[in-house]
Amino acid sequence: MDLLRSNLSRVRIPEPTNRIYKQECCVSFATPKSEGGLFIDMSTFLAFGKDCVDWNYEKTGNPVYLHIKQTKKLVPEDRPLKKPTLLAIGVDGGFDNNEPEYEEAHNIVILPSYVSLPFPSVELPEKVRLAVDAILMAEGAERKEQLALWTADKKEISAYAMSLQQIDNGVIIPRSGWKCSKCDKTENLWLNLTDGMILCGRKNWDGTGGNNHAIEHYKETGYPLAVKLGTITADLEGAGNAVFHL
Ligand SMILES: [Zn+2]
Ligand SMILES: [Zn+2]
Repeated sequence: MDLLRSNLSRVRIPEPTNRIYKQECCVSFATPKSEGGLFIDMSTFLAFGKDCVDWNYEKTGNPVYLHIKQTKKLVPEDRPLKKPTLLAIGVDGGFDNNEPEYEEAHNIVILPSYVSLPFPSVELPEKVRLAVDAILMAEGAERKEQLALWTADKKEISAYAMSLQQIDNGVIIPRSGWKCSKCDKTENLWLNLTDGMILCGRKNWDGTGGNNHAIEHYKETGYPLAVKLGTITADLEGAGNAVFHL
């Protein structure tokens, strides 16, 4: 706790205009569901996976992180996994409803020695408690970008999903080994639900990420619905499908 107090100047309470990243590592594919969880830099509000947080610490010297770890809740064995009835997102019967339930644990972690303090705790300094509350309540900047990218609001996504026309072009989506159809990117890939094209995501602020091929494809074709590969894998396995035929 003394260690945390001595580093309080490196903790900021986010303001409403701050962009808060808390769903995916800024550098890699890590999320709170990854084995090492996700570390939110409590000064810049950027997110880092276990493999990248040391790098951020060395680069910025920021020592205080909110660690978010999501673990799958145990499902009673006699409860079969519900199969998706619709190839759609955010509508009844769509993939969203088949997400396994996750439990989320929070800790304050201080680098470089990874001293871990549980959150919530009344012993934490008020500044830290206020900062964590604000981070947890904020809508992740990643999600905002995603929504701004594909459509104006969630309702519109559902409307698109309801009227989604799929092209029977014989494309078979493999379970793994994905690659962008237009470049060599193998991470941050999006599957277009209309034509089955796999394309890379946005280029990030720092030049990392994809080559914008998914967005360009959307602009060219007007096919609005895509899912980020990796996010639906568990659902596909739950449905017992070896391949995913659009
Ligand atoms: Zn990472
Ligand atoms: Zn690409």
